[in-house]
Amino acid sequence: MRSAFTFNANPARIVFGLGASANVAAEVSGLGCSRALVLSTPFQAEDAGKLAADLGAMAVGVFSEAAMHTPVDVTEKAMAAFEAAGADCVIALGGGSTIGLGKAIAYRNDAPQVVIATTYAGSEVTPILGQTENGLKTTVRDAKILPEVVIYDPNLTVGLPVPMSVTSGLNAMAHAVEAVYAENRNPVTTLMAVEGVRALRDALPGIVADPSNIEARSEALYGAWLCGTVLGTVGMALHHKICHTLGGTFDLPHAETHAIMLPHSAAYNAPAAAREMQPLADLFGGSIGGGMWDFAKSLNAPLALRDLQVQEADLDRAADIATQNPYWNPRPIERQAIRELLQRAFEGSRPE
Ligand code: NAD
Repeated sequence: MRSAFTFNANPARIVFGLGASANVAAEVSGLGCSRALVLSTPFQAEDAGKLAADLGAMAVGVFSEAAMHTPVDVTEKAMAAFEAAGADCVIALGGGSTIGLGKAIAYRNDAPQVVIATTYAGSEVTPILGQTENGLKTTVRDAKILPEVVIYDPNLTVGLPVPMSVTSGLNAMAHAVEAVYAENRNPVTTLMAVEGVRALRDALPGIVADPSNIEARSEALYGAWLCGTVLGTVGMALHHKICHTLGGTFDLPHAETHAIMLPHSAAYNAPAAAREMQPLADLFGGSIGGGMWDFAKSLNAPLALRDLQVQEADLDRAADIATQNPYWNPRPIERQAIRELLQRAFEGSRPE
């Protein structure tokens, strides 16, 4: 018999396709807005300036100081820019950092958001905001945080460097892997998760071989949308907890940490969620942990925490923090087993 489930779909409008970013003005109008503040990181400031120029009077300013982990002082500066420009909405052009800034603004003033997503991290389709103040990261979930419109244009991902494409793609897969065994999973999120991983598995080797392969770029972005959507719909478990612990405590890069940890956390949970994870294992030669590790290796992804400047002496503390505050996971969180998992990830060895 089918298990009971509940399903709340997030009410976002998705606009996907080659050249879709040409529709930004129509999407802003569709929200009843006419004065957009364009957001980006310093790295994508030129693209943001060009977008604002293309929008003409519809763009009333560019704020290109978005930073990793959404620092509150940057948000306050952006809020001041939003008010000074008399903006009535934001357009976030970029990855999770820029999208985080748009969400932080919307969380404070309920400004409608149009996102043009240029990485595979998935933040654009979640009602979740992580922000940092005085070195402390807090996470909030609120309907106001969910962007109203998300535009996916594969053309805008062609410039995403290959190493970042790979780690960002593995970061997306991590959302889907945890979604198939999530406590509050449902049949639709499972379909999306498996298809998302399938799409990224097929696309990433093509991007590594040729970063301008637009078919592979399109398939990867489609997979990233599916994986991000399940991240925003069901609860995450061990893998995300470990990555947040490592990222927050040792200031590690987001996507790389996910990429390294994924085969290990998947292998840890596989015995306890074998049936749920089988469709994913099938995508990687029958073994989810080892198969994903082989896949990551074939893409030249980082495999070892030691390469992210983690010290072996820190692993005990990481295991302590990751096992504090019990949370739901298909397999019980055992301190000794987590410490061993961290050792394998530190060394970059293949999970069995
Ligand atoms: P990012 O947004 O930090 O981008 C990394 C760098 O790549 C930036 O300099 C960016 O400008 C540049 N870049 C982005 N797209 C590019 C492109 N197409 N071409 C060239 N350069 C490009 O990285 P990310 O991995 O997308 O996001 C990480 C952040 O997002 C973290 O802070 C993470 O916590 C957050 N996040 C939040 C959620 C959520 O649901 N709240 C989900 C996933 C990630």
